[in-house]
Amino acid sequence: MFFFDPKTKEGAVIDPGSQGYKILDFIEQHNIKIKYIINTHGHYDHIGADLFLKDKLGAEILVHKNDAEMLKDPMLNLSFYDDVSEIGGIVPDRLLEEGDIISVGSIELRVLHTPGHTPGSICLFSEREIFTGDTLFAGSVGRTDLPGGDMKQLKKSLENKIKTLPDHLVVYPGHGPSTTMNHEKEYNPYF
Ligand SMILES: [Zn+2]
Ligand SMILES: [Zn+2]
Repeated sequence: MFFFDPKTKEGAVIDPGSQGYKILDFIEQHNIKIKYIINTHGHYDHIGADLFLKDKLGAEILVHKNDAEMLKDPMLNLSFYDDVSEIGGIVPDRLLEEGDIISVGSIELRVLHTPGHTPGSICLFSEREIFTGDTLFAGSVGRTDLPGGDMKQLKKSLENKIKTLPDHLVVYPGHGPSTTMNHEKEYNPYF
């Protein structure tokens, strides 16, 4: 997933899993200058193309400090256990914390630390949209039975952080269809 400011053509890639070439194609066709590769958390299906894209685009890799180790270690990011090539050795360029602002052209993305799916899970929101990674899905939430997962924390993240955001935000989860904050507040059983 990625977005860009149409005026300045600056953009950011969020959670490049395995779509490195596809993303690169689009970016090159549209002459977009990617400044950042942002990981909403450290699982392998969200970081798989980090190094490929960093190498091609020279962008910086950003992740919350609590998930930084997962980028280095195939055991921690779980690629070791799955039927994929191992992913590791990724050194983040900047470690994120609650309240950080990431500027992409005229767009400001704010970092919400929303632990639960992993200790360093984040959501990123602008005036119009929110990228929720594996914290919030349409009608559901991410699993918390993997190492570092914690359902109590995830519910707290929903209640104390995500729920306070405006209803009009379009929600782009890490998996599945997009939705709106309004719809989730009304129908998502985890709220
Ligand atoms: Zn995940
Ligand atoms: Zn995922």
